[in-house]
Amino acid sequence: MRRPPTLRRPEHEEEKAYGRIFKGCGSKHDYQVTTKLGEGTFGEVHKAVHMRTGRHVALKRILMHNEKEGMPILKALNHPCIVNIVDMFVVRSSATDPLSVYMVFPYMDHDLAGLLENERVRLQPSQIKLYMKQLLEGTEYMHRNHILHRDMKAANLLISNQGTLLIADFGLARAFDSGDNPNRRDKERKYTNCVVTRWYRPPELLLGARQYGGEGCVLGEMFVRRPILQGNTDLDQLEKIWNLCGTPNQHSWPNHELLPGCEGVTRFKTYPRKVRPTYESFGEDTCDLLDRLLTCNPRERITASQALDHDYFWTDPLPADPKSLPQVRLFSRI
Ligand code: ADP
Ligand code: MG
Repeated sequence: MRRPPTLRRPEHEEEKAYGRIFKGCGSKHDYQVTTKLGEGTFGEVHKAVHMRTGRHVALKRILMHNEKEGMPILKALNHPCIVNIVDMFVVRSSATDPLSVYMVFPYMDHDLAGLLENERVRLQPSQIKLYMKQLLEGTEYMHRNHILHRDMKAANLLISNQGTLLIADFGLARAFDSGDNPNRRDKERKYTNCVVTRWYRPPELLLGARQYGGEGCVLGEMFVRRPILQGNTDLDQLEKIWNLCGTPNQHSWPNHELLPGCEGVTRFKTYPRKVRPTYESFGEDTCDLLDRLLTCNPRERITASQALDHDYFWTDPLPADPKSLPQVRLFSRI
């Protein structure tokens, strides 16, 4: 039996939709798999070599029902701080098996979580600034294009030995409506609030808000070398946020009690805000940026583009020159 031909958009439509043309899929036989790099919630990521070119890549097997929105988003995004799909291929082990889809990415030496766990690694303040700048540039580009990543965390930030940071793992990413188009159906604006690994979840999500654009806690983590807010349950997570950032009140976050997650929880313990005293030792500008990023009221929180303008990026030590970074090959991953 002959297989039906694969449906493909004509090139001019692809160019229009993605701003570039994809040259078609490769095959699993183009790659030689070497080691396992990571095991996520839904699949595995392996290191491999593209045999014809010798290029080192990462192969991510995806489940279509998970990435059916994430993959087209990733294809459409094109920015130096966002991971780029270099190839794709499908594998069907037997006629009855479902298709496995693989995405191929350039190989990156580390992820930020692994780097921070490694005791031999010391990140200089200028190096943290270089990573933070790229993280915010990628985030600013995503938000400008109405995309929310929704799983921002150190393990999803890939880092090369040349100082490049790439935002990766778009499995939970979604397009959002800016709210300026009243004709769009309301349905499209409601995202499930069970996203973003708990430790990085902004309080409005924990409280059940369905419209959000949260930033992570990655900057604090780069300094303290572990996630800064490690809640065991959603309620404990909120408790930990209030403990650091202060329990919201009508002045600091008007109407937060109307968020759906507040039903049933009538009273939170009142904590004063202590972001500044906690992170004072990181220096005035770092502490001020952290203070603005860790603002509970989403309307008051600094946006990625405002954050890029913050004094933190324009005062000494300036973001490191990638060429001057210490080479970190000695602890390259297993
Ligand atoms: P998951 O949905 O399983 O979390 P990720 O895309 O986050 O998938 O990949 C899981 C892990 O695999 C990452 O945390 C990282 O350690 C590793 N990884 C992913 N992509 C790459 C890559 N391009 N180069 C090197 N390692 C990678
Ligand atoms: Mg991941």
